[in-house]
Amino acid sequence: MSSELQLIHSEILGCTKCELHKSRTKAVPGEGPHDARIMFVGEGPGQNEDEQGRPFVGAAGKFLTELLESIGLKRSDVFITNIVKCRPPNNRAPRKSEIEACNPYLQSQIRLINPRIVCALGTPAITTLMGDEYSASRFHGKPLKKAKVTFLPMYHPAAALYDASLKETIFHDFQILEQLLENRETLNTNAPKVAEPGVKKQTLEKWV
Ligand code: URA
Ligand code: SF4
Repeated sequence: MSSELQLIHSEILGCTKCELHKSRTKAVPGEGPHDARIMFVGEGPGQNEDEQGRPFVGAAGKFLTELLESIGLKRSDVFITNIVKCRPPNNRAPRKSEIEACNPYLQSQIRLINPRIVCALGTPAITTLMGDEYSASRFHGKPLKKAKVTFLPMYHPAAALYDASLKETIFHDFQILEQLLENRETLNTNAPKVAEPGVKKQTLEKWV
């Protein structure tokens, strides 16, 4: 991990910038390669995450792993974090003031990791990253390129987990992610212009 990112993560572990620090067990900075090409941003730690200090380790996390595997990616290929790093009590939605207090950490993570694609999971993550006019229901699966980063809004896997039609939708949105990965524009400039047949898996592993 880059030392600057490591520094931010240790700052998060001792952070008291919002009320959420009072009820947390462990803060959850996020995890994944420091040079990941894809980042996932969820809403906030739940009970399992709060206990373990790791993001997406419960049922939603298991489903996220399944979604990643559906397009040939492993969980360890991507960086996973949340808009707030400490669990809101009883899993209530994070408040605007809490999201704002925590946002500098997320922005620093994005700056240091410098991903090509940031997947925003659920409306709170989508509005935080993209603006208040965006939402999961209207913008899921619609990528938006802002400067060097392509933002891809998606439903939250926890919302899709027990809803058959949302489940189909989120699998489809991962297909969009797969297409973005094949698109040279959203990835590094050394990638070949046109993918040769049969090299997809290999190039994915190299680029991600
Ligand atoms: N849901 C989230 O939004 N984040 C996690 O880390 C786990 C579940
Ligand atoms: Fe600090 Fe973010 Fe935790 Fe609030 S949620 S205490 S801002 S790390």
